[in-house]
Formats: sequence, structure tokens, C-alpha cells
Amino acid sequence: MTVELLSVGTELLLGNIVNTNAAYLAERCASLGLSCYYQSVVGDNEERLESAIRLALSRADIVILSGGLGPTKDDLTKEVTARVFGRELYKDAHTKERIAGYFRQMKTVRVTENNWKQALVPEGAIVVDNHNGTAPGLIIEGEKNTAILLPGPPNELKPMFEEAIAPYLNKLEPEEIHSKMIKLCGIGESRAETVIYDLMKKQTNPTIAPYAKTGEVHLRVTAKAENKTEAEKLIAPVLEELYRRFGSLIYTEEEEINLEDAVVDILKEKEITLTTAESCTGGKLAGRIMNVAGVSDVYYEGYITYSNAAKEKILGVSCDTLESFGAVSPQTAEEMAAGAAKAAGADAALSVTGIAGPDGGTEEKPVGLVYIGCYLRGNTRVEEFRFTGNREKNRDYAVVRALTLLREELLGLSDR
Ligand code: ATP
Repeated sequence: MTVELLSVGTELLLGNIVNTNAAYLAERCASLGLSCYYQSVVGDNEERLESAIRLALSRADIVILSGGLGPTKDDLTKEVTARVFGRELYKDAHTKERIAGYFRQMKTVRVTENNWKQALVPEGAIVVDNHNGTAPGLIIEGEKNTAILLPGPPNELKPMFEEAIAPYLNKLEPEEIHSKMIKLCGIGESRAETVIYDLMKKQTNPTIAPYAKTGEVHLRVTAKAENKTEAEKLIAPVLEELYRRFGSLIYTEEEEINLEDAVVDILKEKEITLTTAESCTGGKLAGRIMNVAGVSDVYYEGYITYSNAAKEKILGVSCDTLESFGAVSPQTAEEMAAGAAKAAGADAALSVTGIAGPDGGTEEKPVGLVYIGCYLRGNTRVEEFRFTGNREKNRDYAVVRALTLLREELLGLSDR
């Protein structure tokens, strides 16, 4: 069953408001198992609105319109849709009473005559009560297809969709969509795709869709089934296969868990304290770690040491090392990590030193060259990276690589 979204409002066309309704509706329709091939925006203009509605109805089973149900003259969605379906409008007594009740409850607001315009509904339409505003939602079932009209304000649209529209759509399309997000670090997108090429080629239900994130790969496994339990049954063997192929590169299968959450979890579990010493990332790494609520159990202090003098003074990097190898060198990264751990009295430390760009690169040490050190209870591992993004991207990549390196070291801890 296909659905098409039509957002109505000149403010949307002008970019004055962001079309969050379309994003919300698209996601919800997909999760209800409906296929959405088109979504469009049209202003508050009668002719263009009518042709947009006719076009949408010509190619979708269900058209969901949002906005333009208000009391003013430029709110035309209901009038135009009713005309397209050949329906007259009549004053719905139940809606009139509900609107009166809404204003009684608000006490201070005076009802104006045009508010009663919202009690007009198309003949034969299913009227959906709005518990957060005045304009009712409407479902107009035609011979071939259906139009669903929802109020524009998201705080009215969303509850109405959840309470009444989702159950209505669910009856029409009983299959639901559920998915799991498998998140990997320490592997590039093309390598990850090669590993699962055969699975992706023969996929039907569930499907696997890869998404490249900065320094990470996410795989969304989606199944269509009668209900969540059945969908999970379909997803389970695919997850098992992904774990078999990627093993410990998978850091979570939970949508809301980020790499820093996963790393902090391991730190807490192993009771390891962490500090950071950053040069080119300038606090971004500490910032990511600080995103995790409750991180204060394992992280007490960290350092931004941009100049050589700061690296010497705060982290105890030797003057010799800086002079002989330079600030961007594996030797400096190693001394930064070990020095930070000592200064903070932490079990583990991450250090980052590199050339983020756009200037400062040489032939020998180009922009994007970054050394990351990971100190863990007496041992320091240093990795070299050559990123190819702009300043912002290079710094973001460095942060993700640092977290990945720490995760690897922490997971290898029991082997030491
Ligand atoms: P009302 O009856 O409250 O006037 P309406 O159905 O006429 O609602 P609009 O007048 O089109 O809806 O929009 C009202 C407000 O709702 C807008 O000013 C905007 O804040 C919000 N809104 C409308 N459409 C969208 C959208 N697509 N995404 C996000 N917000 C929206």
C-alpha cells in the first residue's frame, strides 16, 4: 500500500519553518509498513493546492495532508480536498461542541466567528477529535483512495497520528516494520560492504542497509512482519550472521547507544579511569566522552595542550622529543598519553596530536596526519592516521579513531 505526504503552508515553502511533520510522518509510515514514494510541499494557494492533491491521489493509495486546517481564510486544505472528492461541507454538531468545550476550558480566549469554520466537515468523512487544539483531523475515503487531513502544529499532529491515524493505517496494512541498528567501529564502509556483499545481494526480508558515519559503519536490519515478535524472529538469524562475520567490531545493536557510551560502559565495567590529552582536537574528544551521563565515575580531568610548552609543562613531554621528532610524531603522542595518565593519576589515557589543516602541512607531515596514543596500565600503543577531510572532518575522525583505539585496548585487556 502506498502513501504520499503533502505538506501545506507557504511558511514551509519560504523556509520559515522546518518541515518536521514530513520527517515524522515519513518515519512513522515506513514503520507501519507503508511505501512512501513521494512527498511534496505546496503553499496556501487554492489552484496549486488542488493540482497537488490531484497529482498525489493519482499515484498513491493514501494521501496524508498536513497544515491549512486553521480558522483563517488562507487555510484551504479541507475545502479544496472536499471539492476534489466531490463532497459538500456540513457543520458537525459533535465537533462544534468539542470546540466550544475547548474554549471554555481555555477561559481567557474569546471564540471568534471564524472558529466555527473548523466545525465544517466533508460529507461522509471520518472526524478525528483533536485533544490539543481546535481543528479536527479528517479521513475522506473515496472509491479509489483515501485522504487524511491533519492539523499543522506538531503538538496536535503527533498525538492525533499516534492515537487515531496509526491504528487506522494499521488496519489497512497489517504488516509492521521493525529494525535493529548494528553499529561497527574500526572498519570502513567499503570493507564492511564487501564482508556482507552476499547477504545484501540475496536480501528480501529482512533487508540490510549500510550507512557510513564519520569513522563508523551502521547497518540497519529491517524486517516486515505481522507484529514485533514475528519481525524479531526474522531479524535474529541475520544478527547472528553479522556477529559471526564482524565479531567484536560491533559495539552495539541499540539505536540510541553511541561509541562513547559503549566505551564508557567498558571503562565502568572494568573499573578503569581515563584521562585525555589533546592537541589538534582541542577538547572535542573530552567533549564526546563528557556526552555520557555518569562518566564522572571514570573520568576526572583532562588536558588541552596545544603548544609545545604546554605539552612539556603539563604532560612532561621531553624537550628532546619535541625537538628531535616534532609535536606531531608517534614519540610525542606516546609521551603525551603516558604523561597525562601520570598527571591525572588515571589508569588509561588517550592522546591526540596532528595537523588538522588547512595550513601547517609539509610534504613529510601533510595535513590530516594524526597520531593517537593509548596508554593503559603501563603500556602505550600509538597509531598513525592519514585523514583526507577538511579541518572539521579531520578532527572528528581523530576523535572516533581515538575512542575505537581505546575500545580495542580495553577489550584486549584480559589477554595481557
Ligand atoms: P491551526 O488550526 O492551529 O492554525 P493548521 O492546520 O492551519 O493549524 P498551519 O496554519 O498550516 O496549520 O500551521 C500552524 C503552525 O503549525 C505553523 O505556524 C507551524 O508552526 C506548524 N507547522 C505547520 N506545518 C508544519 C510542518 N510541516 N512541520 C512543522 N511544523 C509545522
